[in-house]
Amino acid sequence: MDCVVLPGRQLQRPLLNICRSCSRRLRPQLARSYANVGSQQEPDIYDVVCVGGGPAGLSLLTALRANPTTAGLRVALVEAQDLRKIRSWELPPDRYSNRVSSLTPSSARFLDRSIGAWNSHIRRDRVQPYHAMEVWDGVTDARIEFDSPPPTAGAQGESVIAYMTENLNLTSGLLRRLDELGGSEVFDGARVEGITFGEETEELDLREWPVVHLSGGKKLAARLLVGADGANSPVRTFAGIESRGWDYERHGVVATLELEEFGWGGDDYKIAYQRFLPTGPVAMLPLPGNYSTLVWTTTPSNAALLKGLPTKDFVALVNAAFRLTPVDLEFMHTQTSGQEEELLWRLQHTQFNSRAIPQTVTGVQDGTIASFPLRMRHADAYAGERVALVGDAAHSIHPLAGQGLNQGQGDVEALVKTIAYAVAHGQDIGARTALEPYGAERYAANHVLLGVCDKLHKLYSVGSGPLVPLRSLGLNAVNAMAPVKNFFMGQAAGNGIKLF
Ligand SMILES: Cc1cc2nc3c(=O)[nH]c(=O)nc-3n(C[C@H](O)[C@H](O)[C@H](O)COP(=O)(O)OP(=O)(O)OC[C@H]3O[C@@H](n4cnc5c(N)ncnc54)[C@H](O)[C@@H]3O)c2cc1C
Repeated sequence: MDCVVLPGRQLQRPLLNICRSCSRRLRPQLARSYANVGSQQEPDIYDVVCVGGGPAGLSLLTALRANPTTAGLRVALVEAQDLRKIRSWELPPDRYSNRVSSLTPSSARFLDRSIGAWNSHIRRDRVQPYHAMEVWDGVTDARIEFDSPPPTAGAQGESVIAYMTENLNLTSGLLRRLDELGGSEVFDGARVEGITFGEETEELDLREWPVVHLSGGKKLAARLLVGADGANSPVRTFAGIESRGWDYERHGVVATLELEEFGWGGDDYKIAYQRFLPTGPVAMLPLPGNYSTLVWTTTPSNAALLKGLPTKDFVALVNAAFRLTPVDLEFMHTQTSGQEEELLWRLQHTQFNSRAIPQTVTGVQDGTIASFPLRMRHADAYAGERVALVGDAAHSIHPLAGQGLNQGQGDVEALVKTIAYAVAHGQDIGARTALEPYGAERYAANHVLLGVCDKLHKLYSVGSGPLVPLRSLGLNAVNAMAPVKNFFMGQAAGNGIKLF
């Protein structure tokens, strides 16, 4: 049966039309009459174009496709990387990627209930929940311990604090889910070469529409352009949205560690450890089996030393970071080699609480030591006319609380809700007014978290002086007050905030 075109009633501009008899969305007749639509001269027209196929961009596309209200939108993803490699990503069971994130129960719930990827597309045998956290001050040894919140907090009613998930496990699962849902156009291996406003022609006025120019000459016009394109977001630059903040002069050193033996609870009860050193926090977060992932925030020169050390000395420095005093550690960072022997000698003269530190590290998986410069940035706004930002394009946070990716999931959840509301109420999804609820829901919450992590970084970067006993007093006091701790944990589970 031929489709009868009903001018678009959901959208202010009749660019996407709806068939009166089958409700199918049709490309506009005007556009179809263009000889050049889809060619290199004229842009192809979409409701949503998302630049960036990282965790945030892929979550956005899958969530839009999985939501019955937004599933009819014409959507496209642009990603510079070749996504075939991510789709087919696979590692042997005893090898783990070095980019691992702790996903909060609320992120897991979103991936499960709204996206439908958590249980069926993400490799759960490679995801390690953890159930307790030990966090302590490397200078004073003041300590706070967190146990998992009541079972209802987990995605499956599990009693967990967070789930350690390789970023590639997440993105490859999301890609497979996107393929399964179908209906989105993916331009991968395609860099954004420029973003301009469209032009007015006899039939169409795209002067207020962003047009994304891809390498290869393709052009995509977007009713709503979403920047999920990371910290250096070209979409943010196009929108003229300032991003403010500072560099921490710190690098995050990551590695996949092999441990001496299983912890006492095996895979069923795992603990995350974080020790605040004056150079920055060092964290060991559990993976399945006797593996852990390291995130060690330190100075660029220490990071360079760590990356250049022979494996045995790197391992010795990691073990030292959880056991020796900051002064001993500082000395070991001045050595160009011999850390293994130094650690053995110094351990004989150091007292530490051996029950409250992680298992001994025995090795590092080849090729997993890497480092990333750390910075704090926050965009002035998350949305403008026909533009929205999600994930690191909107904010970059210190990794000490493992929140960056979780914030991105929260952004995506809120943006999809905003778009769905606009579609359901016949609004133009790209209009600034329609996008306002998104910024209102996310901006302040993210700002608070960015501020908290920034202040924690600064508070614990102090190695001596009056702040040191004060911060320890605070940590010990919170640790002693079960209701306060429970409140923090409840917030963490419910709002996607993991606090330490
Ligand atoms: C050491 C470290 C540890 C961390 N640990 C945690 C943790 O435990 N928990 C947590 O929640 N977060 C953590 N994070 C933060 C987390 O990794 C990031 O917040 C998250 O990866 C950001 O995802 P995103 O999709 O917003 O951006 P990205 O992952 O940066 O993805 C952006 C995508 O856009 C693409 N792109 C960029 N420019 C273009 C262009 N011009 N054309 C086409 N494509 C383009 C890129 O190729 C990329 O795929 C950590 C970060 C660091 C550095």
